[in-house]
Amino acid sequence: MNTPALTIAQASCADDYDPNSMPVAKARAFIHQFLAPIEGTVRVPSHRNSAMDGWAMRGADLKADGETTLQEIGASFAGKPFAGRVGAGQCVRIMTGGVVPEGADTVVMQERAKASGKSIAFGGSNRTGQNVREAGEDLKKGSVALKKGRVIRPAELGLVASLGIAEIAVHRKLRVAFFSTGDELKSIGTPLGEGEIYDSNRYTLHGMLMRLDCEVLDMGVVRDDPQALESAFREAAANADVVITSGGVSVGEADFVKAMMDRLGEVVFWKIAMKPGRPLAYGRIEGAHFFGLPGNPVSVMVTFYQFVRDALLVLMGVDPVSPAPTFKATCTAKLKKAPGRTEFQRGVLSRAADGALTVKPTGEQGSGILKSMSDANCFIILDDATGNVETGTPVEVQLLEGIV
Ligand code: AMP
Ligand code: MG
Repeated sequence: MNTPALTIAQASCADDYDPNSMPVAKARAFIHQFLAPIEGTVRVPSHRNSAMDGWAMRGADLKADGETTLQEIGASFAGKPFAGRVGAGQCVRIMTGGVVPEGADTVVMQERAKASGKSIAFGGSNRTGQNVREAGEDLKKGSVALKKGRVIRPAELGLVASLGIAEIAVHRKLRVAFFSTGDELKSIGTPLGEGEIYDSNRYTLHGMLMRLDCEVLDMGVVRDDPQALESAFREAAANADVVITSGGVSVGEADFVKAMMDRLGEVVFWKIAMKPGRPLAYGRIEGAHFFGLPGNPVSVMVTFYQFVRDALLVLMGVDPVSPAPTFKATCTAKLKKAPGRTEFQRGVLSRAADGALTVKPTGEQGSGILKSMSDANCFIILDDATGNVETGTPVEVQLLEGIV
């Protein structure tokens, strides 16, 4: 395994990138300096083995049709191979996973055999090579088992184990610090005063970050106060690779946040042509990536899924990063939509009795109505050009859950 000597700090000094507008491809290239593919060439399975319980023989000995009787000369069990060679007219008792002995190239399953002492009669139609798993069938010698950038899911864990490898090098977890901003916010467990609401964004962010297996640093609620915010940003950036905030990036508030950001780092503020989730800030604060998400609870989730998720995966070293899959489904309700922006309405995707995929919106679609997210299993993505949608129109949907 290669462990590059370069540290991130050294590389970031050496690499002349613009933290003001970090493109995904540049972030990916940066991270890739630290990735090393699994090395070494082995093959899995390492030997030709039987796919069935039965007998192994030369395929040429079997009659194409009708019964063939062969003499059993030994046994090959999984982990206990037969040491000899199978000659003409001979066969070897074999169990699933047993090494196919020298001379043999075919296995007949036991259900097609009649044993009378060591004389075994085989029936049915057979072909040479049947029920034999070739060496290297799973992984050819010299082939790459796992490319760098692959997420280790259950299948990858098994693949690595099948190679006899007990430890592999992986990226450390991405550290993500997050806080909510707003004088009106209270954490759960505290009574609400006049005009106050419970902070929900920190909980949705926590959940979304945990799903991506990030190491999270929950910094609570920070008041809309320049000094409190500045020290929260400094602390977050000092302790995390990524800082995510919610609230405080809308037009009225952006100005003082902008002034503060000029002292702390470099940040771009966008008004994105989308609904929900218009205001968004991205930048770097003292070496940490910064995502300033809108305050509205649904906007937080939408902007997280549409911008932050992929960026975090890139930072984690996942390569390639595939967007959550999209499908076409027939919309079973009318949708209100203004052209000129992309909308991410929340919907329920299901399969109708005739097998067709259908989607219906989850009711009220306001950016503060978190229930519309909670009831949904997908986004209905309506692009810039789309206007109102009539019942029965095919629309693009994106699943909120991915099966891995
Ligand atoms: P802002 O972007 O700070 O102007 O917030 C926009 C709206 O989202 C306001 O109605 C806020 O009260 C609400 N909001 C902001 N942060 C949170 C939060 N953490 N939890 C719930 N609602 C929030
Ligand atoms: Mg606010």
